[in-house]
Amino acid sequence: MRTTVGIIGAGPAGLLLARLLHRAGIDSVVLEGRDRAYVEHRQRAGILEQGTVDALRAVGAGARMDREGLRHDGIELRFDRRRHRVDFPGLTGGRSVMVYAQTEVCKDLIALQLKEGGPLLFGAEALAVEGACGDRPRVPFRHQGREDALVCDYVVGCDGFRGVARGAFPAALSRVFERTYPYAWLGVLADVAPSHDELVYARHERGFALLSMRSTSVSRLYLQVPAGTDAEEWSDDAIWSELQRRFETDGWRLERGPLTHKSVTPMRSFVHEPMRHGRLFLAGDAAHIVPPTGAKGLNLAVGDVVTLARALVHEKETGSADLLDAYSATCLRRVWQAERFSYDMTTMLHPAPDGTPFDARLQRARLERIASSRAAEADLAEAYTGFPLE
Ligand SMILES: Cc1cc2nc3c(=O)[nH]c(=O)nc-3n(C[C@H](O)[C@H](O)[C@H](O)COP(=O)(O)OP(=O)(O)OC[C@H]3O[C@@H](n4cnc5c(N)ncnc54)[C@H](O)[C@@H]3O)c2cc1C
Repeated sequence: MRTTVGIIGAGPAGLLLARLLHRAGIDSVVLEGRDRAYVEHRQRAGILEQGTVDALRAVGAGARMDREGLRHDGIELRFDRRRHRVDFPGLTGGRSVMVYAQTEVCKDLIALQLKEGGPLLFGAEALAVEGACGDRPRVPFRHQGREDALVCDYVVGCDGFRGVARGAFPAALSRVFERTYPYAWLGVLADVAPSHDELVYARHERGFALLSMRSTSVSRLYLQVPAGTDAEEWSDDAIWSELQRRFETDGWRLERGPLTHKSVTPMRSFVHEPMRHGRLFLAGDAAHIVPPTGAKGLNLAVGDVVTLARALVHEKETGSADLLDAYSATCLRRVWQAERFSYDMTTMLHPAPDGTPFDARLQRARLERIASSRAAEADLAEAYTGFPLE
């Protein structure tokens, strides 16, 4: 098979890149190792920054999001039984975020791509990336029991943290910056209307808790648990009781409902530099991971592919590779801002298992600073609603 841009992975990064290129008249082939149902039902992110919303609308994938998504103008910080609302539009000159699940983003993009885009092959596992420094890189892959190869002008690894593309970078070129955390998130989906109409980030001495939602009738709730926890160790009753304790405050009630999904997400910060090697580019989780506290993972993936699509279109229209050459450095500036913000939110809200009373006082002081200083609050609101694309 032959194409201009070979895309490995049909997560949000790969799917959106294929749409952006299709609209610019650049052909691509997407190879996805899993089947369609798996990709469409994998429970992950749910908060879209304004830039992500704009990008989805621009490729024609905004109609259902605009109908069913929930615009959110703030979040609540809860600590010491106190409640503090951060008002996004008032602090950022009008910016907000959209609650619309990653599963739905993927469904919308897949439907469009299958209807009017280039080939999107499910069950097609890329085995390697070969010849990244030559003129015609090659991606051998296995599809329906047969081995084949995709020959491209460019290869984009949108294959997530455990994909193959990053492995094609020579060890001498790769630099990895990483931090793991001694806690994880136990996440549940519950068939019950959210108990608050905005997200609630709660710091409690027993651990962090987050109240989020997928729609007006489905709640998404998280509990900080020790790293390595098995979700099945937690009964539904134990989950609700612990959530109740951590969110406890006067005049507020947590509504319970049937749990329909339970899983544990590890917390990790990770950046691979650079994000380009010859004709191979990395985008999204293939290049960087953030702990989910800042709601940045999906949005960073979108930022990368919007930047890359612009660079590929620029090269097609002008013959200049300037923007492709700048791709890695351009993305990394935004990536590191998101890493910083996600780290700050995570360490402010999660008591570490080996944390001292001093650490606990510092966490409280950081929260009190946000609750009492417009400048500190605006810093949070700006970062949460999204760093602009360069
Ligand atoms: C369990 C979990 C929960 C998360 N929760 C949140 C959250 O609450 N908020 C938030 O902001 N972010 C969250 N994230 C992060 C967010 O979902 C990711 O940042 C986002 O999915 C990145 O998109 P992506 O397209 O780069 O990668 P992915 O979505 O990981 O997509 C990569 C795709 O590549 C495919 N693939 C991998 N290897 C190959 C191969 N060899 N050949 C072909 N295809 C391959 C995979 O099957 C996958 O479909 C979560 C992540 C995980 C893992």
